[in-house]
Amino acid sequence: MLTAGAGVPELTLLYRGPLSSCNYSCGYCPFAKHAESPAEAAADTAALERFVAWVQAYPDPISVFFTPWGEALHRARYRAAVIRLSRLPQVRRVAIQTNLAGSPDWLAEARTDRVGIWATYHPGEVKRERFLAACARLDALGVSYSVGVVGLRAHFAEIEALRTELPAAVPMWVNAFATGGGAPVAGYYSAAEVARLQAVDPLFEVGTRRIRSAGLACDAGLRALAIDGDGTARRCHFVPRVVGNLYADPLPDLLVDRPCPKPTCDCHLGYVWLRDLDAGEVYGSGLLERVPRPGADLTGYLDRARQLALG
Ligand code: SF4
Ligand code: SF4
Repeated sequence: MLTAGAGVPELTLLYRGPLSSCNYSCGYCPFAKHAESPAEAAADTAALERFVAWVQAYPDPISVFFTPWGEALHRARYRAAVIRLSRLPQVRRVAIQTNLAGSPDWLAEARTDRVGIWATYHPGEVKRERFLAACARLDALGVSYSVGVVGLRAHFAEIEALRTELPAAVPMWVNAFATGGGAPVAGYYSAAEVARLQAVDPLFEVGTRRIRSAGLACDAGLRALAIDGDGTARRCHFVPRVVGNLYADPLPDLLVDRPCPKPTCDCHLGYVWLRDLDAGEVYGSGLLERVPRPGADLTGYLDRARQLALG
């Protein structure tokens, strides 16, 4: 039986299949302009279809978050998967990270009240006007979305211009410039620069700190799992230990309440599951696409993150 079982909390699956290609060419990214071969396309399509079929057969409430290596919405198969998943009665949310390069018009076929878009703006790859036009289309479609940027110093003015031109109700985040391993680059920002970017993203400082997670209770692994194309399940994208296989193992065997084994958790995708941070209180149903609840206590969240941060 596929159900999570009595007492198992509502499940979120973070899916990252074999896809590793992108239509953009950001200088710091390994997936930039990688052209997908026919064999890679076939493998990714098969893996995605298997995953979507599993979710379709799952009878309990569930959310899905696509966190691809590269750009997935550039591929028709991912657009179709989002539409299909959004229409399943048990799916609460289907969210995806995207560079929003393509028109979002295809979302008109989806249950837009269940879709979440984590849109990253890449200055240098796309004109601001074009990106804003795609955002306006998301607004018209009634899709919950956040907009963000990597906080490179060279992009500060562009980040502020984007904030000025986006509707005030659209939440914006700025990710701290990070190493290849995901940790924020120590000392990259002066205090004045943190304050400047905090004016754009009230939670910017959280990403500049390393969150101490060792031994802390984390719902990644209990309420959320990271799933590879072949069904390999890990508690999150950051702990390599395999906990089983989505397609081979009973789900309750995969979902275990364990403390975090890593010294720090350096990514929003991870630390939002830390119980001490209580990100659910801030983000509510917008947790996956990083959209805070209206009136959420962002200061309280920032304080909790400061208490957990190293140094
Ligand atoms: S849009 Fe994202 S995946 Fe594509 S090249 Fe830029 S950073 Fe990499
Ligand atoms: S705190 Fe981060 S690294 Fe640790 S288990 Fe949770 S998500 Fe994974």
